[in-house]
Amino acid sequence: MRTILAGNWKMHTDRADAVALAQGVARGERAAGVEVIVAPPFPYLEAVVAACEGSGVVVAAQNCHAEPQGAYTGEVSVPMLKDLGVGACIVGHSERRQYFNETDAAVAAKLEALHGAGLQPIYCCGEGQAERETGRHFDVVGAQLKEALGKLDRAVVRGLVVAYEPVWAIGTGLNATAEQAQEMHAFIRKELGRLIGDSAQDVPILYGGSCKPSNAEDLFQGPDVNGGLIGGASLEAGSFLQLIAIAARVKA
Ligand code: PEP
Repeated sequence: MRTILAGNWKMHTDRADAVALAQGVARGERAAGVEVIVAPPFPYLEAVVAACEGSGVVVAAQNCHAEPQGAYTGEVSVPMLKDLGVGACIVGHSERRQYFNETDAAVAAKLEALHGAGLQPIYCCGEGQAERETGRHFDVVGAQLKEALGKLDRAVVRGLVVAYEPVWAIGTGLNATAEQAQEMHAFIRKELGRLIGDSAQDVPILYGGSCKPSNAEDLFQGPDVNGGLIGGASLEAGSFLQLIAIAARVKA
């Protein structure tokens, strides 16, 4: 099974900070066996691709448009990302669902476009606080998976990296317990199994939500937790490198 650590820089950094952070990750001492991805803001993708060249660090976008080109003012297509040397893309992050009304149908179209172009999609799902508190978290995540992935070609689903990100844990300092993470990851793998059978065993499922060096050791223990999608703790090369080292140790 692949182990992956992906850093979502969101709308942070300026050009100089982005390049310095990328160099810190790319040149830092990194344990073998962990795939490393960084997702800077759109304007810095090209500079970060250059900073990561030859290091094995894959550069991801945080969003894309499903159409290859057209009259979509302000949008960025998958071929444009590929042209820049981008290798992956986060899709369906809760902040995009919440602030930009991204629907499961839009998510599905983006996953298809990325698959077609050979970029690695990182598909995000996760429940909100009220849904967790009322015990509806499995229903909500199950519905998200069904809506976004249910109609996709099996090859697209087989090629996904999935990120489970409980919305109540993103940027809040709250994190799921290791038990909560593992049980949801196992559930997601079971649901993926309905779509792609045994191949679900090979789909990496990352945990995201206030994951940091002080809690990663626990969170990464779960057999269905195959790494992390990291926000805040990826904005500092030292803490991101620590997370990579922890993942390498726990998953060895
Ligand atoms: C994220 O936004 O993908 C995320 C997990 O953020 P944080 O680690 O800051 O909670």
